[in-house]
Amino acid sequence: MEITGFRFERLTGTLDHAPDEFYEARLSRPIDVYPEFRADTATDVFVGGGSEETETAAAEDGIEVSQVFLHVETDAGVTGLAGPVGDDWMANIARFEGLLAGEDPRATERCWDLMYRDAIHGRKGKTVQGMSAIDVALWDAHGKAAGEPVYRLLGGPCRTELPCYASMLGFPVDPDSVRERAAEMKERGYPAQKWFFRYGVGSGHEGKGANEELVRAARETVGDDYDLFFDAWSSWSRNYALDMIDRLAPYDPDWVEEPVQQDRKAVYAELREAAPFPIAGGEHEYTRFGAQDLLSRGAIDVLQMDTMWAGGFTELSHAATLASVHDVPLIPHGHFVPANAHLIAARSEQVCPYVEYLVRWNEQNQFFFADPVKPEDGTVSPPDDPGIGVELDYDVAEECKTVEA
Ligand SMILES: [Mg+2]
Repeated sequence: MEITGFRFERLTGTLDHAPDEFYEARLSRPIDVYPEFRADTATDVFVGGGSEETETAAAEDGIEVSQVFLHVETDAGVTGLAGPVGDDWMANIARFEGLLAGEDPRATERCWDLMYRDAIHGRKGKTVQGMSAIDVALWDAHGKAAGEPVYRLLGGPCRTELPCYASMLGFPVDPDSVRERAAEMKERGYPAQKWFFRYGVGSGHEGKGANEELVRAARETVGDDYDLFFDAWSSWSRNYALDMIDRLAPYDPDWVEEPVQQDRKAVYAELREAAPFPIAGGEHEYTRFGAQDLLSRGAIDVLQMDTMWAGGFTELSHAATLASVHDVPLIPHGHFVPANAHLIAARSEQVCPYVEYLVRWNEQNQFFFADPVKPEDGTVSPPDDPGIGVELDYDVAEECKTVEA
């Protein structure tokens, strides 16, 4: 079985939501230290520019969604799928097409190692995102050729009912809204939730107070015996975070995520020492080497590398093994739920206890999937179809065309 080439397909459709109703609130961002960016609205942040994977634009009847999917073609009558990927991923995928042409797509370790060795300047960031998409598509092709779901090829299942935490990106964080939505998510069966801080460096005491009010409202709503996580999205400084640790400790958060920018690993370790609650990180870290750096420094209590960003199934499997050695759980960042479900199903609850389910984001990210992986009563199961089990639903696309990188 050989790889014969890559093909990119762009699907465009309309999400049936008014832009300013779909994204009701935004999160804090590192760039918010500059007041002109701090003033951006949720629509500024989420609609128009697009995300890593999706181009979006306000349309008359909703939000126009445009996504690119990678098809890795083989000579065996099966095609590996991965996506959505953003426009700027395509060049970082296409650069490996010649290298992998003629390779056996089932030799995922060899293909990954070829890419890593070839991209000597590309050991992190966008290049690894491109490698991740290819790797996911190769496992999909392998699964389809073998007639098995990917979680079986990864050595699973350890379990197939996977608890999800509701990740509340895009939901408003004023205390009344938090109380309403936190109660609703608990009622829907989610065993845990994550909320996103709106304020970081530059927002002063007022911002810190508003962050604290978010945490207080959420904890008072769900009670003590319920997992509550909070995400600062790399937007705090060391001193800001130390102050927030004192403020938040009485509400017993079950983790605070990305308190500072990813490269400040020594600060992570210092904050972890200072906090009476867990510190999570790694969403913006890459490969087993990045995982080992965080783990060996004692920088994190929870590792959050993303399957579609940090190296695909091949590399996340290595990261999961490293995390298990340190007894630090791997709870992958949730941009591609079907892949995460396969990976998580192949590990024990101790290693991979939760699936992140971004409640709003997945309406967009799985928009073109025929059978989106969505939680029922707070759990998902990995698809049982061969490969990753994702088929595109061309009927919801208003336009579909092959595109060049
Ligand atoms: Mg995060």
